Amino acid sequence: MPLQKTLTIQRIVDDDVEKAVFDALNAIEAKSLMKKQGMKILLKPNLLSAKPPERAVTTHPLVVRAVIRWLKQFYPSKIYVGDSSGGSALNSTAIALKTSGIQAVCDEEDVIAIPLEKTERKIYPVANPLILNEIASTKLLDDVDLIVNLPKIKTHSQCTLTCCIKNMFGTIILTKKAEKHARFPSIDKFCSALVDIYSVSKPQLTVIDGFLAMEGNGPGAGDVVDDLKIILAGYDGVALDTLVCKIIGLDPSKVLYIEKGVKKGIGSSNLEEFKLIGESIESVFRPFKFPRVMPVSLRLPRPVAEYIADKIFKSTIKIDKEKCKLCGICWKNCPVDALTPPDDLKKIGEYVPIWNKEKCISCYCCAELCPEEAIDFKIKYFKNFLFSYLGLGFLGSITIIALIILLFSL
Ligand code: SF4
Ligand code: SF4
Repeated sequence: MPLQKTLTIQRIVDDDVEKAVFDALNAIEAKSLMKKQGMKILLKPNLLSAKPPERAVTTHPLVVRAVIRWLKQFYPSKIYVGDSSGGSALNSTAIALKTSGIQAVCDEEDVIAIPLEKTERKIYPVANPLILNEIASTKLLDDVDLIVNLPKIKTHSQCTLTCCIKNMFGTIILTKKAEKHARFPSIDKFCSALVDIYSVSKPQLTVIDGFLAMEGNGPGAGDVVDDLKIILAGYDGVALDTLVCKIIGLDPSKVLYIEKGVKKGIGSSNLEEFKLIGESIESVFRPFKFPRVMPVSLRLPRPVAEYIADKIFKSTIKIDKEKCKLCGICWKNCPVDALTPPDDLKKIGEYVPIWNKEKCISCYCCAELCPEEAIDFKIKYFKNFLFSYLGLGFLGSITIIALIILLFSL
């Protein structure tokens, strides 16, 4: 079986993350990618927002350190650790690097921690596009000899799972992410965009951080999972995302970008094609809690499905007054200006940002980025239905039928 068709699950024993990462990379013979001395390598962790490692929002610094140390055995000339975080402020990635503990690891290991927005840009054409013909990203993607994806296992309110494919969305720089959310508000189109983006930055190697994971209302405000403690590695991001689904008790068909990745030919979701080394799925199986708001994939004509997804499944934002500090991060990062500041910014604990339901595209960026985890979503199915054309049509039909019955009974 070719190496590209190997996957591994390694258990982290006694919190020895480094051993598990080394075992994982050795098991899949990742040294086959280290073709020469002096290689330039880009590591792409998840740096969603400025949260400490124990909150399980960002790739754990111990995983980043272990991968750096494994790579150093092959005498690379440069190792970059880069991402562009979820915020739009120019220093948001730098702050996330510091808070996540990754900056300190890079300093100690003498490698370069770099916010991708500080690098030279390049426009990349997308081959065989699903929805994007080109993407603007960092020139580093072209300049390095090897890209290593370092995602984290987290549930995701919009996509259900964020791991391999979704992590490369971070190669899109700052405000360009918001632009993509605004351009592709439906989950279907957004997942197509994710697959196109992954295909351009396609990492040759992936090491998944399952040391601390996140369940529930991920990717920024869920619950920490500290009893999974695994490292996964492989070459095929679609297969690895599928493997993660099986481990956390999620039907892979609920993660739209997996099916789209297969369609585009960037990987395979058929795990029978792969040799799995190390732990079995059953031995590490740990069902996750999933977000309260789940994406909908309706097998209906597209305009009907989009209407129902937009109207009936539209989520409502709830902002916790006691938690909100009126910091402004949510309204500054909303891609469609659906959040605005309240009249009095000094009345912390009394006022919260103002939400415009009509403008909101349910991208969940505000919840992902809120440092206080003050934003929650829920779907009011009945109310949404009643105030939609479907609901009005339904009520109208019932009324007409009732009137007809009444007339005939007189
Ligand atoms: S909801 Fe969160 S991000 Fe928005 S103003 Fe309040 S604390 Fe800041
Ligand atoms: S309000 Fe929040 S969920 Fe709605 S569009 Fe703005 S950032 Fe996205």
